[in-house]
Amino acid sequence: MSKVTRFAPSPTGTLHIGGVRTALFNFIYARQHNGKFLIRVEDTDLERSTKEFEKNILDNLNLLSLSPDEMPVRQSERTELYLKAAETIINKGKGYYCECSQERLQALREKQQAKGMKPSYDGKCRNLALDKGPGRVLRLKTPREGEIVFHDMVRGEMIFQNSELDDLILLRSDHTPTYHLCNVVDDFEQGVTTVIRGEDHLSNTPRQIHIQNALGYSSLEYAHLPLVLGKDKKRLSKRDSATSLDEYLALGYLPSAILNMLARLGWSKGDQEIFYLSDLIDNFRIQEVQKAGAIFDLAKLNWINGQHLARLELSDFLDHLEPFCNALNIKITNKTNYHAIVTAMRSSSDTLDGLAHDLLPYFNGVQGYDSKALDKFLQDTSILFTIRSKLESHEDWTEAELDKLLAAIQSELGLSTPQINQPIRIALTGGTKSPSLGLTLSLFNKSEALERIDALITFLG
Ligand code: GLU
Repeated sequence: MSKVTRFAPSPTGTLHIGGVRTALFNFIYARQHNGKFLIRVEDTDLERSTKEFEKNILDNLNLLSLSPDEMPVRQSERTELYLKAAETIINKGKGYYCECSQERLQALREKQQAKGMKPSYDGKCRNLALDKGPGRVLRLKTPREGEIVFHDMVRGEMIFQNSELDDLILLRSDHTPTYHLCNVVDDFEQGVTTVIRGEDHLSNTPRQIHIQNALGYSSLEYAHLPLVLGKDKKRLSKRDSATSLDEYLALGYLPSAILNMLARLGWSKGDQEIFYLSDLIDNFRIQEVQKAGAIFDLAKLNWINGQHLARLELSDFLDHLEPFCNALNIKITNKTNYHAIVTAMRSSSDTLDGLAHDLLPYFNGVQGYDSKALDKFLQDTSILFTIRSKLESHEDWTEAELDKLLAAIQSELGLSTPQINQPIRIALTGGTKSPSLGLTLSLFNKSEALERIDALITFLG
């Protein structure tokens, strides 16, 4: 049977990494069931919702290839539907107006809390048959006995006692619809069959099922996803690492790698680590997601990103790299051998931003010398003179021949590889991290390499 899923973000912030995971699983499930993936913007909290956040969320979903199959809908534009549903509930005798004042409810809450009870509405107006009137809220007549049982695709059978639930407010005293009513009506109106969302919504589900029942809607499938946790096993927060997708994109994590990492949180398939969206559609099973919260591991994301970067064709790699180079004022096409440089350097960092920084000395000159490296390898500068003169008289400026030359110098002087190589690396790049030295030298032309050695000699006085 074909399924309809939805991602229902509240535009009160930029797209959160946990939200990306929810959207991803909804997208995959729809694709696996020949169905549709929809987006509903839950923007009823007018004070906290903004158009900018909505745009950020929708644009980023497109960027991640998680585009919806229909135009997104906005709750703020659908009030009529919710009011009509509220009327149906009244007409069916499944709801009632309540005139209890804030003061009464507050006093009731305090009394219940003092007795160690969970605060809940006591149903004072439940059988008064009050009419709609100013200041009155509409409540759902929640069954007092019995239970709500549903199967959760991640958590198995879930049972909630009705006695634990009170009579939920559906229309506020200003007669605006509440979150639960909008959510249920929209799932019905959008033809949703399957709700995949964070487990922070688990306790909402029995309440929402009661609203569905009151409206005579058919039941939905559910999967409540474990939360994405930080290292401290608490909900991932800014304390642990970035939480907004934008921050990861700005550091140069590829969309495909972010999706791969998020799918692997709490789900695995044998020892396979690398999954593209199409692999996930073939292999991922929502029922296999673990119930326990999944810890977000930045080291793992770095590794996965490195793998995704390594698998890109050079031309795609260059396209992805371009904005990061632009941000650092690197114009890579200024060097005719930029393909060779990027090819030699592309695995130097797990992120595109890291790589762009690593490319700076190749395109924009040495940015400064690593002082620790100078202390360690250049106490005695005579090695720079020795190697410089050997390089100057060397004609064949290719990686293989340069490697041979360096090996010959090393055995002639009886020094270790780092003693020979690191001073030159420092001269060429400012630091001690670069591809093999023959290759690094070959990425510069001879005159440029000699100039950089001279510059370091001058710098060291
Ligand atoms: N708007 C809710 C949220 O952003 C999602 C509600 C739902 O998926 O049912 O957490």
